[in-house]
Amino acid sequence: MTRLSACRACGGPLAPWLEGVADPQTGERFHLTRCGRCGLGHTEPHPADMAPYYGAAYHGGRHGVTAAWCARRRIRWVTAACGGDGAGRRLLDVGCGDGTFLLEAGQRGWRTVGTELNPAAAREAGLDVRGSVDAADDGIPYDCITLWHSLEHMTDPGRLLTRLAAMLGHGGVLVVAVPDAGGLQCGFFGRHWLHLDVPRHLYHFNHGSLGRLLAADGCAVVRTMHHEFEYDLMGWLQSALNALLPVPNILFAALTGRRRRGEHGALTLISLLLAVLFAPAATLLVIGETLLGRGGTLVMVAQKTPRT
Ligand SMILES: [Zn+2]
Repeated sequence: MTRLSACRACGGPLAPWLEGVADPQTGERFHLTRCGRCGLGHTEPHPADMAPYYGAAYHGGRHGVTAAWCARRRIRWVTAACGGDGAGRRLLDVGCGDGTFLLEAGQRGWRTVGTELNPAAAREAGLDVRGSVDAADDGIPYDCITLWHSLEHMTDPGRLLTRLAAMLGHGGVLVVAVPDAGGLQCGFFGRHWLHLDVPRHLYHFNHGSLGRLLAADGCAVVRTMHHEFEYDLMGWLQSALNALLPVPNILFAALTGRRRRGEHGALTLISLLLAVLFAPAATLLVIGETLLGRGGTLVMVAQKTPRT
């Protein structure tokens, strides 16, 4: 375990933020600190070995029935940011999971490469998936690099973004989606917020901290979005249930097919009933938080600017 003495992004002072935040998989508790200068949240302590916190309970079926819908929304954003379909241009997806987004990008004419620590599922789909960003850096510039909810898992996000910016060609586009720790959900639910997901999320970004990191890498933020609907809806529903019920993330586990047969049967039924009851209000909250620019998800599109 590693304790942090200063912000890993800007070197600013860290102050206590949230205490007793539980890992929903192991029950282990962590505390969060926040940088007084850039606002970046840090999970503490950082486990020296992250492997025990991933595994079967984490990988596979993560997005359930919404995966195809999600991939189509993301490719629309990429198409808008890059001025059209891929037309043979190169796209790198860092932390590509099972490759659903890369398959969609391939259909839109992008030549795709992914990185993933557990690449078996994406490789089975016929995709070019490398084991690390180093392995994806083959000297040929990328036109678009995407990180869909992967930056918050990285041990040194600033260094990674610097590396990725260097791998972009002139005018290349970086698209980064993270949970928004400056949003209404995080402020309302605190340690019960679904998308804290400690310790897998080592960092907790807000508009200021992510924008600052991107700008430091010679990129200009050209567009910001404030929601990914299914993430944000689940954020309101599951976080409310986490605050009410003794076992966290029961609804999320049931909807993504990771609940073991017979496990928490009564709590699953209660969670599903309450979710149906809460869903209309949660939908209105997603619309409201998006309009306020304080959604559960923050998506920033940045363009590499020429060095002067
Ligand atoms: Zn900082």
